[in-house]
Amino acid sequence: MPHDQRIAVPDQEFPTEPVADRLSLSSGIWPITATENEEGALALGGIPVTEIAERHGTPVYVFDESDFRKRCSRFRRAFEEFDVYYAGKAFLSRVTARMVEEAGLGLDVCTEGELAFAKAVGFPAGRILMHGNNKSTEELAAALDYGVGRIVVDSFAELDRLGDLLPRFPGVRPNVLLRVTVGVRADTHAHIATAHEDQKFGFSLVSGEAAAAVRRVLDDGVLELRGLHSHIGSQILGTAGFEAAAKRLLELRAQFVREGVALPELDLGGGFGIAYTPEDEPTGPEEMADILRTLVAKECAALGVDVPRLAIEPGRAIAGPSGVTLYTVGTVKHREGIRTFVAVDGGMSDNVRTALYDATYSVRLAGRASGAPLRLVRVVGKHCDAGDVVVRDDRLPADIRPGDLLAVPGTGAYCRSLAHNYNHVPRPPVVAVADGTSREIVRRETIDDLLRLDMG
Ligand SMILES: *Cc1c(COP(=O)(O)O)cnc(C)c1O
Repeated sequence: MPHDQRIAVPDQEFPTEPVADRLSLSSGIWPITATENEEGALALGGIPVTEIAERHGTPVYVFDESDFRKRCSRFRRAFEEFDVYYAGKAFLSRVTARMVEEAGLGLDVCTEGELAFAKAVGFPAGRILMHGNNKSTEELAAALDYGVGRIVVDSFAELDRLGDLLPRFPGVRPNVLLRVTVGVRADTHAHIATAHEDQKFGFSLVSGEAAAAVRRVLDDGVLELRGLHSHIGSQILGTAGFEAAAKRLLELRAQFVREGVALPELDLGGGFGIAYTPEDEPTGPEEMADILRTLVAKECAALGVDVPRLAIEPGRAIAGPSGVTLYTVGTVKHREGIRTFVAVDGGMSDNVRTALYDATYSVRLAGRASGAPLRLVRVVGKHCDAGDVVVRDDRLPADIRPGDLLAVPGTGAYCRSLAHNYNHVPRPPVVAVADGTSREIVRRETIDDLLRLDMG
């Protein structure tokens, strides 16, 4: 829901309502281990956030290990007969790569850097799929060298590059999928809608480019064409976009299958949305799996062709809900008649999604209880940029003050991976919590780290 529909009158004092009511731990926006102790402090992985903050400092990305593992296995089970690739770009560390491997999922990487993390944990090459709209020759060589299971080809230039590389890999016949731009505009922010015509990814369906790409691969005869791929975008809450994309892909596929070309696989990409506010209602993996498998079976029957093996690539829906960012409040400014600005010790450098995609987040007072009435607030960061907003509109108790701890849920995906160093602010650590223990799985960046890259 667009954020402005949730706002009442600016600076209105809302009636006292226990914070837990709106952002209750059962609202679907907190990791599964989230609890609240008697003092009203939030606990994650069995540790009060006050203690996490003391041990590791703030801002800090808290990563709920059991939540992440549970979601991996839930997708594995729900999409039983599918290939399920975790999209590493959502959040990839060695720890998460191992968890993904242990859960029996595949891994989707889109650069040599992401591939390096997979290699670092010995991720089985056959279960890796490589994406990218502009893979370099070096990246393709690294993928072939490691023996990745699938390369999703995005352009004719990439077909040239792959062809030129193959003599360096005698006997290798890479398995490829072709990424098709199906012409569906996903119902999400423009920057994360990826399958309408006017964007950079894939081979266009309507122009005939996709069909030409299939013919080209068949004619060249050096690549093993496993099938077609489509990824329509990210943070998609309904199912209509996926259904439309699957139909178009299946129609294109059927043209070739009728000619005797097998195309045994169909990859429907990622993009499954999560709840960032209690008002968001994402479709769960079980329901999504049912909808997709039923639709594909029905369409294939109508087209008179066999049912392909299906694949999906969820990133956010696995990593997003496992993460909570903790911040310490530094300043509070009541702008009479407008709103209250609560500034925290991080900002757009640790969560650029609000500035970049107009993303909607929720916030709660995390370290103590408060009986004060709720006020409309905007949580902002410490950067020298007026767009430096973490939570555009939510409510916090009116007695919010410097030193308070705030928790922003749903930051497990695309926050650490999109983090940057604007204003030379070091990036926060990722702290994994489980069963009362905490450990840094990605350490906090230091100012020395920043200086080290500067050659003087
Ligand atoms: C980003 C991306 C994904 C994952 O998207 P989520 O919204 O995180 O599920 C999957 N496939 C491709 C090709 C992507 O670009």
